[in-house]
Amino acid sequence: MIELTMAEVEDQIRGCKLCDLSRTRTNAVPGEGSRSAEIMFIGEAPGFHEDRNGEPFVGAAGKFLNEMLESIDLDRSSVYITNVVKCRPPGNRDPLPDEIAACSTYIDRQIELINPKVVVTLGRFSMSRWFPKERISRIHGRPQRFGDITVVPMYHPAAALHQGSLRATIEADMKKLPQIVAQMQAEEDEREDPDSEQMRLF
Ligand code: SF4
Repeated sequence: MIELTMAEVEDQIRGCKLCDLSRTRTNAVPGEGSRSAEIMFIGEAPGFHEDRNGEPFVGAAGKFLNEMLESIDLDRSSVYITNVVKCRPPGNRDPLPDEIAACSTYIDRQIELINPKVVVTLGRFSMSRWFPKERISRIHGRPQRFGDITVVPMYHPAAALHQGSLRATIEADMKKLPQIVAQMQAEEDEREDPDSEQMRLF
């Protein structure tokens, strides 16, 4: 899949039959947003409204995500939003390991193409891609570097709808993102600045 463009990846997802979720979905949900986004949000799987519309995060959890983006002066068009699994599991059950594995080729390529500075994992299924043995309650909001990408694990916005006490936690984690992106940018600028390199040499 390495040579596919984003449009080709999205087309493949819409017609994909690699796992059994293709039998029960209404629409596959490839993702949406800026293809040069600095921040990429990766949730779990489409729900009822996403399956109907073919767009990610359009239900109540999506509304809350939009509000949090506004709180840090971002909107959906400036970030990229997708899910680990692109088709709705029946009854909103958890995605199964073989479904996540079958779908992983798409998220791999989407990350390569967008090449974001920061990946925000929303919920435990996307978190476990980078932190397979961790608990979200322990590491949420704590950025960690993986090569050129910084990954920030966060609770899924739907968690705040089910458990009101998490709302302030998710909002606080979201407010850390501008500073994390700025730090990544500063490091990139320093790497590209020959004077800065020279200073390090002396
Ligand atoms: S969930 Fe992923 S692998 Fe399964 S059918 Fe949908 S796009 Fe294909």
